[in-house]
Amino acid sequence: MNYQLILEEIEKEIQPFLNEGKLANYIPALASVDDKKFAMSIHLFDGTSYHIGDSSLKFSIQSISKVFTFTLALNYYGKDLYKRVGHEPSGDPFNSLIQLEYENGIPRNPFINAGAIVTADSLVSIYKKNTFDTILDFIKKTSNDETIKHDKEIFKSELANGFKNFALINMIKSYNNIYNDIDDVIKTYFKQCSIMMDTSQLAKSMLFLANHGINPLTNEQIITESKAKRINSLMLTCGHYDASGDFAYKVGLPGKSGVGGGIVAVVPKKMAICVYSPKLNLQGNSLVGTIALELFTTKTGLSIF
Ligand code: GLN
Repeated sequence: MNYQLILEEIEKEIQPFLNEGKLANYIPALASVDDKKFAMSIHLFDGTSYHIGDSSLKFSIQSISKVFTFTLALNYYGKDLYKRVGHEPSGDPFNSLIQLEYENGIPRNPFINAGAIVTADSLVSIYKKNTFDTILDFIKKTSNDETIKHDKEIFKSELANGFKNFALINMIKSYNNIYNDIDDVIKTYFKQCSIMMDTSQLAKSMLFLANHGINPLTNEQIITESKAKRINSLMLTCGHYDASGDFAYKVGLPGKSGVGGGIVAVVPKKMAICVYSPKLNLQGNSLVGTIALELFTTKTGLSIF
């Protein structure tokens, strides 16, 4: 298949949609990015890769970081993690508080904010003051890239404005499902969200999920086959919040989005993909990114269905 040609076609076809959607301005530092940017990268198991647009432009990975923290936590705690965070879709927005009260502070899944905050807390219990460095090192390992870092301005911007997340963590703490100091946990969460990567690095970093938990480029086992299966399932059912059904319907791949404008998607046994376009749809997922991935699976027949 001529992937480069397919990417070029996609780039042309998404042009009319680049004016639609809105930047995530509830984190002020995210509102200053160039809103017309588009990039897409594919990494295959044999080390070949294909790119279109500015695939070395770094952007804030935001909720895509939840895939890495969930992987670390699942690796350590196994099934016990599900006592504190579930594995069902929420059907609610990513930052919703409502369900949490009904469900006694147990978030529905690790990809909504509440679930990612509990996951971050579970990592702080293990790695203490080194938690963020452990997360960053893990991302460097899965993407085989030592240069990755976080953006202090975006971190500070969310720390100063992330009121919903403060509400969430306080609510969860009131149900005794946060074990560590609120400040340490929320800072870890905001820092992981402010990690900067480009589409090429992100696609590469997800290859282990396409290959039963083994990074095909280094042959390193990152996680067991069974856990890789579960992470992919959760990406399919929960990776796009209350638009997860829509994403599965249109794209048909496990995927995870972030309000920075990135979406990663996994084609089992074949490749990992990342697309970037910062303007978001109503559910907080990259509007053009979703369209580009839908075009990709339509043109290639590579959806899992
Ligand atoms: N840092 C963002 C927040 O907590 C992440 C949300 C997202 O990417 N969907 O609101």
